[in-house]
Amino acid sequence: MDGANSTDAQESGPPCRRDRVRDPSRWGPSVLDWLLPPTCALCGAAGLPGLDLCPGCLADLPHNCAACPRCALPLPPDQAVGATCGRCQRHPPPFDAAHAAFRYEGPLPALVAGAKFRGRMNLMRLLGSCLLRALLEQGAARPELIVPVPLHPARLRERGYNQALEIARVPARALGLPIDARGCARVRATAPQMGLERAARRLNVRGAFQVTAPPAARHVALVDDVVTTGQTAAELARALRRAGVARVDLWAVARTP
Ligand SMILES: [Zn+2]
Ligand SMILES: [Zn+2]
Repeated sequence: MDGANSTDAQESGPPCRRDRVRDPSRWGPSVLDWLLPPTCALCGAAGLPGLDLCPGCLADLPHNCAACPRCALPLPPDQAVGATCGRCQRHPPPFDAAHAAFRYEGPLPALVAGAKFRGRMNLMRLLGSCLLRALLEQGAARPELIVPVPLHPARLRERGYNQALEIARVPARALGLPIDARGCARVRATAPQMGLERAARRLNVRGAFQVTAPPAARHVALVDDVVTTGQTAAELARALRRAGVARVDLWAVARTP
């Protein structure tokens, strides 16, 4: 496994097989909280243990509670829990399950932009912690491997980091899962998906990814910061399935409504 932080991810404990991700023992006050007391990234008040958010701001965030289990699309709260959205019923996506911590609204665009474009590592860790909380609350299935959605090499050079990888480090470490950040490559730079029609979106990302080293895992979770249309992650999921991965889930910090 050619994982970017597979070593430290595996330090979290012996490998164990469980059906669902479980609350790790590290979740809670740590020595770090004494050294660097958590401070709310939104209002500056004292944060919760191990989280740079205060209880009020955390409660006010747009948690993606009612969502399609296959694509994480936010659904009206009165829709039956566990109901698949109409689009997934017509065109089942290549994911078995999808989890997004938040709807992409309210303070989310600013938080994600701060992490993504200004390289604020504390915000990336915060988004990763929020993703971890949502996975635990939503009872996400436990994968064998985490694959962050890769950036095109030109974009990676320009930015200097892949925010999806930085976000993925938090759940990977807490859950004791390896990360493979090198087995898949984005081989084609694509135009932004925003504003394109559905068919155009799929064409836009077709052949965008190449699996250069097929993962030795049957169940993989993709991690991305924001899922807009789901087509980018779906293209990567199709590439992984062609490379022999049996099940691909999608984990994202936020999903556009
Ligand atoms: Zn606050
Ligand atoms: Zn759906």
